[in-house]
Amino acid sequence: MMELVIKGHDFIYETESVCRIFIGPEKIVTVKEKSENSERYLLAEVEKTPQETKIYLELSMNGKKENLSGEIRAEEASDEECERRIGVGAYRLFSKILETTPPWGALTGIRPVKIARKLKEEGLSDGEIISFFCDKYLVSEKKAKLLLETERRETAIIKQSTKESFSLYIGIPFCPTRCKYCSFVSHSIERAKKLIPDYVDALLREIKYTGEIAKRLGLRLETVYVGGGTPTTLSAKELERIMREVDTSFDMSAVKEFTVEAGRPDTVTLEKLETIKSCGADRISINPQTMNDKILELIGRKHTSRQMLEGYELARKVGFRSINTDVIAGLPEESVESFENTMDVLTSLRPENITVHTLSIKRSADFSENGGELFLNGGRIAAKMLDVAKPKLESAGYGPYYLYRQKNTLGSLENVGFSLDGYEGMYNVYIMDETHTVFSVGAGGSTKLKDPWSDRIERIFNYKFPYEYIEGFDEILSRKRKAEEFLNEASKQRGTDFRGKL
Ligand code: SF4
Repeated sequence: MMELVIKGHDFIYETESVCRIFIGPEKIVTVKEKSENSERYLLAEVEKTPQETKIYLELSMNGKKENLSGEIRAEEASDEECERRIGVGAYRLFSKILETTPPWGALTGIRPVKIARKLKEEGLSDGEIISFFCDKYLVSEKKAKLLLETERRETAIIKQSTKESFSLYIGIPFCPTRCKYCSFVSHSIERAKKLIPDYVDALLREIKYTGEIAKRLGLRLETVYVGGGTPTTLSAKELERIMREVDTSFDMSAVKEFTVEAGRPDTVTLEKLETIKSCGADRISINPQTMNDKILELIGRKHTSRQMLEGYELARKVGFRSINTDVIAGLPEESVESFENTMDVLTSLRPENITVHTLSIKRSADFSENGGELFLNGGRIAAKMLDVAKPKLESAGYGPYYLYRQKNTLGSLENVGFSLDGYEGMYNVYIMDETHTVFSVGAGGSTKLKDPWSDRIERIFNYKFPYEYIEGFDEILSRKRKAEEFLNEASKQRGTDFRGKL
């Protein structure tokens, strides 16, 4: 447990986020005064005078203690600057004691590409943007360049969206079994099988209702994503019912991408793939996470690398336009060489997309032993894996097209979608950039409403668990009505509809 001692300011969230770069999900307790005898703490103190703001930071951990202090002249001491200086200072102290420099520096937040895009829109050159990240937040040059590369390709996708565009997400929160590292709400089929028929019935009603809202608002559906969980846990018949309902409830004429996540290769059958394809999906995800069978067993994936290859081959045979494969860097006990081998196998298959995730830690207990050394070491190994992956992917013709960061990933590292040119996963870009409204149906999802004129965003949450979703379905519909009201209000304020007609 680490104490976060906050004095004279309220930048708690940002300071805590910087601690998490180094200590992951370890418990952090925020206090105003350090407890007596505390040996594991970060003190962040701010003192304002009319002339200047003084910052004092002190970190004590693993039997070591370091501090630093600095002043900001009053005219430069905006909240943003104080927060940044505390974050950078804390990063320096952790780096010194733990002798490690995570490559994203003190930069926190899920969407760093958005910052790069904003700076570009403000007129900064590539060099100035790189300096911004490297100088102000101690981001490594490699990561700053990765942001710029990703930004270029993301922006090309974002430009294809207009004010009337929206996307649809369909959540299927069931999996054949539960993987050990899973951080999603997903029920293993053994436990939840009996819920599936009622779940599918409710889902069909919600899809229909959402389709009516979209029609009334005059919105245009651009991308559809069926995710989970593992949607292919359902039978071919159930998948067909869901996808047919999408087809009848929405105008599909402008849809540019329709993804179904097969996720776990052990759920892939020819019948399901053919059904998915004949119901209109053109993109599918088959995810090995690693091609090392020992590691697959260790993480409870309950499938082999061979099943992944067979599933992949079937998907190719059925003729999907685009196949994505996910891998995870930093899986427990996986070596850099083993990860490298996974990348070699995948690039030789030539899926259109390869998404490289970094392991996100959900159980603090597993990683906080020995003063968090396991977390730090995992971060170092994962960083090496990502360093290996990028050049490999690039020389095989893949480039980064979307990037996001998550809480508690090893080394605070990123997740990056790589694709062959022209095969960028559009939904991924839209959801991450918050480009347009994404209606979400099913348990576990949240509808993200975007006012295209003011960039105002509002989220409406569905129930988390399938049983709540089934039982509280009327509430779900009333929340959806609020979504319609939000978008209607936005267009009324503008005096125009989403197609620009007065
Ligand atoms: S397949 Fe994905 S969602 Fe399902 S249990 Fe494994 S990690 Fe969780």
